[in-house]
Amino acid sequence: DRPAETPDGREIAILGNIDFPKEIPTYLRYGARGVGLYRTEFLYLESRSRPTEEDHLKSYLKALEELGDKPIVIRTVDLGADKFYDGNNLREPNPFLGCRSIRYCFEHPEVFNTQMKAILRASAHTKNLSILFPLISSLEELRKAKAMVLEAMEELRRKGVDFNENIPIGVMIEVPSSVLIADTLAKEVDFFSIGTNDLVQYSLAIDRDNERVAYMYCPAHPAILRLLKMTIEVAQDHNIPLCLCGEMGSELEYIVLLMGLGITQFSVAPPATIPAIKKIIRSVTYERAKEAAEEVSRFTDPEKSIRFLRGITKEILPEAF
Ligand code: PEP
Ligand code: MG
Repeated sequence: DRPAETPDGREIAILGNIDFPKEIPTYLRYGARGVGLYRTEFLYLESRSRPTEEDHLKSYLKALEELGDKPIVIRTVDLGADKFYDGNNLREPNPFLGCRSIRYCFEHPEVFNTQMKAILRASAHTKNLSILFPLISSLEELRKAKAMVLEAMEELRRKGVDFNENIPIGVMIEVPSSVLIADTLAKEVDFFSIGTNDLVQYSLAIDRDNERVAYMYCPAHPAILRLLKMTIEVAQDHNIPLCLCGEMGSELEYIVLLMGLGITQFSVAPPATIPAIKKIIRSVTYERAKEAAEEVSRFTDPEKSIRFLRGITKEILPEAF
């Protein structure tokens, strides 16, 4: 129950990644402050037919009921590639580089519109609901997705349906191009959420699901650390919140490094990792974390970075590895 705060008073928010609203009570029991990533594609994956606006709304209202006034970030459907649907990706030779995620929504605007109206209707019940677009790789994509939100808003307005006119909109930073244009994106969004699962995959050219190259899938790669640093600095310069919701933020050895790089919000899974993450945060000063991050950024060998970070983490949690 203790706050996730460093000994020198830096507050860190720990939120949960969910696929279904029924997971929320467990997250709250383990100390999450809310939901930092709701992967809504699971609504599609669990049913044989496309969910209707009412199906979406029912799930979102269920999530709000579980959360009370705690925050929730609803990500628009991230279908395709590893999240099979409609056999869509089966026809593509490179599904991770194909019509997945926001691109699938551009190809099927009715899917996006149905979901968006439900999200907006749910937003009438709380100021703490935000929208997150996955896989944005250009400013044009962001603008197109935002224009589609405005269309859904207009449709609801015409019908006299309530929603939050100022609903916050954020983008996943999970493609290297989005890191490189983060300053441009930051001017047109309310927040960033870093998806390290895809960012590592696309930056290192390692299929996240291919066991044969899994040994090369390395969040401690110096290139990844530079990309993270760049994104965090842009968010700080533009004064927008930033959360890290990829699995890197749930791996205990990276917590000190990520804090030191400037992360103040983690959205993690599974819920049982939260107490250990909190213990790390409550044991390391921000100053010490910054020194550790600076030291790691000088290493050229990721294995050395991991050994160093595990050493620090083990001092706090001897049972960790
Ligand atoms: C990510 O890519 O890091 C992420 C959180 O999204 P997903 O794992 O759903 O692709
Ligand atoms: Mg992703």
